[in-house]
Formats: sequence, C-alpha cells, structure tokens
Amino acid sequence: MLSYDDAIEVILNTVEPLSPVECSLSEALGRVLAQDVEARWDLPPADNSAMDGFAFAQTGQGSGAQLTVSDFIPAGGRFDTPVAPGSAARIMTGAPLPEGADTVVPLEDVTEFPGGIRLGGTPKRGQHVRRRGEELQRGEVILTAGTPLYAAEIALLGAAGAERVKVHPAPRAAVLSTGDELVELGEKPAPGQIINSNAPYLAARLREEGCTVLPLGIASDSAEDTEEKMRRGLEADLLVSTGGVSVGDRDYVQPVLHDLGFRLGFWKVAIKPGKPVLFGTVGRRPVFGLPGNPAAAAATFELFVRPALRRLAGFTDPFHPPLSAILTSDIEGGEKRQRFLWGTLSAGDSECFFTPSPRQGSGQARSLQGAQALLPVAAGSPGLAKGERVRVIVFRLPEGRR
Ligand code: AMP
Ligand code: MG
Repeated sequence: MLSYDDAIEVILNTVEPLSPVECSLSEALGRVLAQDVEARWDLPPADNSAMDGFAFAQTGQGSGAQLTVSDFIPAGGRFDTPVAPGSAARIMTGAPLPEGADTVVPLEDVTEFPGGIRLGGTPKRGQHVRRRGEELQRGEVILTAGTPLYAAEIALLGAAGAERVKVHPAPRAAVLSTGDELVELGEKPAPGQIINSNAPYLAARLREEGCTVLPLGIASDSAEDTEEKMRRGLEADLLVSTGGVSVGDRDYVQPVLHDLGFRLGFWKVAIKPGKPVLFGTVGRRPVFGLPGNPAAAAATFELFVRPALRRLAGFTDPFHPPLSAILTSDIEGGEKRQRFLWGTLSAGDSECFFTPSPRQGSGQARSLQGAQALLPVAAGSPGLAKGERVRVIVFRLPEGRR
C-alpha cells in the first residue's frame, strides 16, 4: 500500500495552480499573486517631514539660534514659496518639505515666541526628513509572483498604486455526502438514520481555507443519484465526497467516477485513520473520495485535500507548518500503518506541548473536538514516551494567554 509521503507526491505532481484572474485589492486577501508588481510612483512622492515641527535650512545654527516663522504647511498641503535663510516654516508630519529647507526640528525641541522660534540644541542637517522614493521607487518590483497576499501586502500594493492585480483565484470546492443512512441538518433522524455531519464540517474547513463551497447534498446509495450529483460537482475546481468509496455492495463512488472519465491517482494509503482514501482527476479537476467515518474524513482533509487546495490556489508550499513540541503522555506503538493522532497544543514559556486527545476513533466526530494538531507516528514505531520531542502538523493555533 502507498505511504503517505508517496501519496502526497502523487498529489503534488498532479495538481496545478488555477489560471490567474484579475481582481481588485479588496478581493485579494488570502490569494497568491500571479504576477510581478512594480511601483507606479515614488513613495514618498516628495521629500517630507517625519515630525510635527519646523522646516528650515540648517547652515550651522545651534542652541539659542532664532528663526522667524514664515508659514504653516499641513499634511496634504502645498507650499510654493521657498523658506528664506534664517526663517522656518511650521510643518506637520507628512507635509512636503518647502524649497530651501533641508532639516526639521521637532516642536518639542524649540521654544516658541511671537513670530519665531529659538532652537534648544543643534539640529543635525537633514534630520527628520523622509526622502522622496526612500520607501518605493517608480518601476521597482515590490512583490513577485507567488507571494501570498495578506493585510501587509495589500497595504503595500495599494500604496504603490496597484489597484488591480493578477492572482490565482480562490478554489471553488464541491462537497458531496453519500449514504442512505444520512439526513440533513435540521431533519429528524428516523431509526437507523444519522445527521450528515461531514458536509458541514468540510464546508466550514473549506471556508476557513478561503474556498467557496458548492454544496451537493446527500447522494443516496445508488449509481444514478451519485452520478447526477457528481456531474454537478465537476463544475467546481475540486470535488470532495465522503463515504461510499470502498468496494462494498453499496459503494458507488468509484464505479461512477470511472464512468465520468476518472484518472486514478491513488486508492488506499497506509495510514490510520483514513486508509480508504481515493484521489484522481476528471479532466484537470482533482477529485477526492474521502472515507465516510467523520474523523477519517477530517484527517484526510488535512493530509490530502488541503495541500491540493493550496496548490490550486497557487501556494508554492502547501503544507501545514510542522512544529516541534513536547509530548505530554505516552503513546503505544506497534501499528503497521502510519498513524495520525489528534491533539491539542499549549504554549509554555519556551516550549510547546502536544497532548493527545482522549478519543482517536475514526468513527467519532468527537475525536477531533478541540484538536489543533496531528501527531504523525511512524509505521512500526515502538511507541513514544511522555517528554519526548515530536514534530506535529499544526492546523490551528491555540488561543493566547497573557
Ligand atoms: P461508508 O464509507 O459510506 O461505509 O461510511 C462509513 C461510516 O461513516 C458509516 O458509519 C457512515 O454512517 C458514516 N458516515 C458516512 N458519511 C457520513 C456523513 N456525511 N456524516 C456522518 N457520518 C457519515
Ligand atoms: Mg456509505
């Protein structure tokens, strides 16, 4: 059976970034830039004051020197008259430096008297002046293709005049649940029925990942219904189904996908939970058949679907950050498959701790309740001891404590 590492290679070799689209900066949060961006202008556009104070020409004036104050220049103001030698202009932070001035002395470093100021010390020539273009120079490449756009990048692009940018779009993911035993949230389960909890879980995780969700509802355990809903799902950029993926009498995901032109990437991976996981493509579209068991569906989402989504979205490094942590309890070994254990993180003064969740069963949605990370335990591992340093896959940071 394929190892997790080999399965991930298959995904990375198959899934490509979605074709770039142009969008406004207000739509760009969380997207990955698909072009290099140059600054449209110098920033600051002109030499300007870094302080509220007085702008003047420093020609050797020291403590006690007096300057007449000729004018006032607010931020956003314009000032066309040069400052004469021996005089100063009152200037606010961000206001353009008037011609003739090269230095700003802050308000708190002078004594004001009617019509003028007296210097409290010797201002260094050029002090508190922000030079034209010291932040950005017109034509300079400020961000390159492949850069994820968060608040800081959006501010920078805006300041540089890039109102519209080319990005890889947010993937649209279709979610299908399968199973005659399932009813939708809000319905009352009849005997033998349970609520479809995988779909709201996956929709929520997909939204957290910045995707838009195409909900396909529940397919009954029949080829016709499964095919109809899967066809609709193939309009999205990625299709995820849960359940019905094995080779039981009532498992229709694989035969239906086969009829829809499915190209197999892999079927079954040597992991626990999540062994019965299917991946492949229809056209260029990645398709995942996740196990029906809720905690197995959730684990395979983190381990396989998320990297594929990040790839579609253009991220060059599509994985959750691995974090070094100290294990807070013993873990038994002796499993033939690589395990992934749910757990919580807590931050100490200089260490992070990983506490395995009390429930790990793949059939229970409760196994992942509160979980923030998955601990990989190698196949055939003799087990791990409390206090050991481990590397965990973090998918949610713990809340902070002061
Ligand atoms: P299956 O892979 O279809 O045999 O399903 C495996 C187990 O997962 C069964 O106990 C199902 O009832 C359960 N299951 C399948 N789909 C869902 C779902 N959408 N929500 C909750 N449980 C599910
Ligand atoms: Mg089923």
